[in-house]
This record gives sequence, C-alpha cells and structure tokens, in this order.
Amino acid sequence: MLKPLYVYLAATMWIGSWGLFAVDQVSTTINNVIERLESQESSVLLPGYVIHEKNGVKFMIKSETAKKMGVVTLDMECDSSEFWEKIDYEVDLETLEFVIDFNNLDYRDYKIRNLYLAIEPHSPVADDWNIATKGFEYHNFSKTRIPFTEEVAKVTLPLYKSNFESLEKPYPLNVNLEATSANGSDLVNCKEENVYTIPVEKFKDFENIEPFFAEGILPSYDIDNIKVQSNEEDAYIEKFIDYQILRLSGFNLTTNEASLALLGKDLEYSPNVNGDYKWVDHDISFKRIRNQKTVVGLYGDVRKSDLELIKNALQVLHIVAPGLDISYSSETKHVTLPIHITDCDNERGRHIGCIDEYIGVYKWQDFIWVDASLRGDKRSHVLIHELGHALGLSHNLCWDSVMTYEFSGPQVPYFSHVDLMQLHILYHPELKTINYTNSKSAYIYRSQVINQLDLSEERVSYYEDNIKEACYQKPGEYDYLIELQGG
Ligand SMILES: [Zn+2]
Repeated sequence: MLKPLYVYLAATMWIGSWGLFAVDQVSTTINNVIERLESQESSVLLPGYVIHEKNGVKFMIKSETAKKMGVVTLDMECDSSEFWEKIDYEVDLETLEFVIDFNNLDYRDYKIRNLYLAIEPHSPVADDWNIATKGFEYHNFSKTRIPFTEEVAKVTLPLYKSNFESLEKPYPLNVNLEATSANGSDLVNCKEENVYTIPVEKFKDFENIEPFFAEGILPSYDIDNIKVQSNEEDAYIEKFIDYQILRLSGFNLTTNEASLALLGKDLEYSPNVNGDYKWVDHDISFKRIRNQKTVVGLYGDVRKSDLELIKNALQVLHIVAPGLDISYSSETKHVTLPIHITDCDNERGRHIGCIDEYIGVYKWQDFIWVDASLRGDKRSHVLIHELGHALGLSHNLCWDSVMTYEFSGPQVPYFSHVDLMQLHILYHPELKTINYTNSKSAYIYRSQVINQLDLSEERVSYYEDNIKEACYQKPGEYDYLIELQGG
C-alpha cells in the first residue's frame, strides 16, 4: 500500500508551501522524489514534471497531466505582469466595441500565441439558468480573436437579444481576455482575466437575433411571415391550394393498433437488461399535443442543408399530421419553437449540460438544441429526433426509427414508418383532443383513440404485450413519405 505523497513531503524542511496534486499520477515515483527532495536544498523538478500554482500553493504535476488540464509551467511569460499591467482596454457601451491599446507591446514577445475576447452570460444563481429561457442566451457565449497589432485593436462585441422578453431572462455578461500559449505542439490557455461585466440594462441596445433564412427552399405556404406582393398573389394562392391538397391527402392514410401501442410506451434506463434500456408503459394521456400554431426558426451555426431538412420534414408533417399547424419564420417575433445549433464548448457546454452527455436535446421550455459539430446524416438524425420529441414522440427500441435507442441500428435522418404512423394518430384530423387549461397543448387518452379512430382494443392490447412486433409495421402507402424526406 502506498501512502499519499504529502505524508512523505511534510517531513522535508522547505516543503510547507507544497500541496498534493494527482497522487495517483505520481505514486510510482514517490521514493525517487523523496530521495531527491531530502538531498537538495532548493526546489527540484523531476524530468517530465512541471510546477502548477493554485491559490498560492505550488503543486508538482506531470507535464502530461498539465497539458490535459490546460495549465502551463510558470516559467512561460504569458502571464507576465509586465505585459498585463501595461495594456489598456475598455468596453465602449455606445458602440458595443471592445478597444484594447497594447501601448507598443508585441504580445508575441510574451509567448502569447493568440489573444481572445471571450464573452459569457453570468448567472449569480446557478439554478436560475434553466427556468426562464428559450435557449437564446447560448448565442451570447462567444470567443473572438483579437487581431495582432502593437497599437489599438477594436473588436465588435457579438451580442444578441431575443424577442422572448417575457420568457428570456437576460444575464449580465462577463467579458474576459484569454491568452493561449504554445506548449510543445499544443495551444493551451495560459491566462484569463475578467475585464468587464456588461449589465443587463444594456440588452435593449443589442442586435436582435433572427433565424437563418435562404430564398428558394421553402414553399411560400411554409413561410409564416411571408409578404406577398400583389403581382405574386396568384402564384401564392396556387401554392396554398397545393398545401390544402397535401393536408387532405393524409386523411386516408392507415391508422393502426401497433402505432397506438407504441405511443403508450417509453424507455427507461436499465443497465444489464439485454442492453441499457427497456420498454416501459407511458400513458398516452401524458403526451402533450401541440394544438396551437408552431413556428420553427433555426439559429446559430445553421447550414442551408438544415433548412432543406426542415422543408422536407414539414412536407411530410402536412400529410401525416393534418391537425398540426406548423411553419417556419425568418423573424424571431413569430417563432415559437426555436432550434439552436451551437458548439458544445467549455462554458457554454457546461451551461447547456451537453459535455459528455448529449449531442441534441429538446427542452421542456419548448426549444431544441443541436450540436453544431455534427455533420451529414448524424446531424439530420439528431435534428429530426429532437423535432420528434417536440411533437410528442418518445424513445423506442424499433430498429430504424428516428426515435430509437437501439444504438446498433442505422441513424436514419428522417421520420420512418413507425414515427410517421404515431404522428398520424397524435395529429389525426378526426381526433378530438382535450385542451389543458392555461396551456398551449392538448391531450388524448387511449380508449378515446380506439373509439374515434375505430381501432380494435384487442389488437392494441396484443401489441402492447408484444411491443417489438409493433416496430415492424411498414404499410406501403407510407413509402413515398420516406422518399419525400430523401430516404
Ligand atoms: Zn431523445
């Protein structure tokens, strides 16, 4: 058994100011360390170790560990007071610019490779974050590289407000200067300084954040805030008739018992039961059905292909879910379901909760977040999966469902048969939903669906007991809806 390192270190004469760091990393060399410490009067470093200072206490840690932690040895001059005390900076609240005067100093002389201006919302009460928000504060985390100069540099602060004043709570914004330095071939953070805090009262002067938009993708009936010129009226009316035809075409799609059984199930995390998840009953009356106009808006690191994906999803939703009123807007004031696509990085990641946790999420405040680093089918899969949650779908273990937690299955980038058939029930035009009081959603219950859609109670029960079989329903009449989504 090895004792912790500090027990040995305390015995040496000058070791009082040393603390313990990452014992497990160094335990194998304890004896070696003690020998050296006792034989020498001055501080000594083993090869491969660096000193890290924290709260006035010096720690000795493996340089590899230091690299992972993003700390740098003290002999680097990146945090030199000579540099940091000489430079001047201010935040110009009129122009919302950050102005920095290097006073003829070259930051590269101080082993500073890059200098960044980092902004992050700051909540004094951590629990506050998740209560009043539509996710727009994610866009106020930013990191801008300060251009190199020896004189005065200006950086326009990328600051945004949303139009959800009643829902969004603005937070004061911390403005930090961050320097990186080279450590071998890696860049590591070597200095961080809080230089300013922008008060919430300034939010009114910020730029409005508006959804991504590109002409020529969405049909006119899908654009909620469309402005039709008088010479375009005929074309618009023609398109609007197309829309009504689309919605009518879904009325005759098959509704089946297997889909109702699936709507009554969810998954529960349960390691060691033939995989990590197992089916559980989840009463369909808990589902919130969107009974008010839903307007989607894409924000952040959006690609044209994301809007194309939404366009295809809206097309099939008009058909399978005629009771759902869903469209897109290029103006935040019309958006009810924002989709934020941002990176899950450091501070923002901690705030979103995505670090090591998830790559997409639908939050109960009614917004979606998707990790911007995703590409291709995986990106589409996550986006459609979260949209599925927003519309009322739960997880399942059906092989090729977009809502599947069967991780060996394909990550389909569209609503597949079982997903579409469930949505067809939830937003069936003949189904009378029940409104929650004071809520923008409605609900239904099992026996009501059976009666109103003329289903067999016996068959529903059969699928509920043999839920895996419910996954295999693939009526051919739904095939073209998969094709419409590019599947
Ligand atoms: Zn999910």
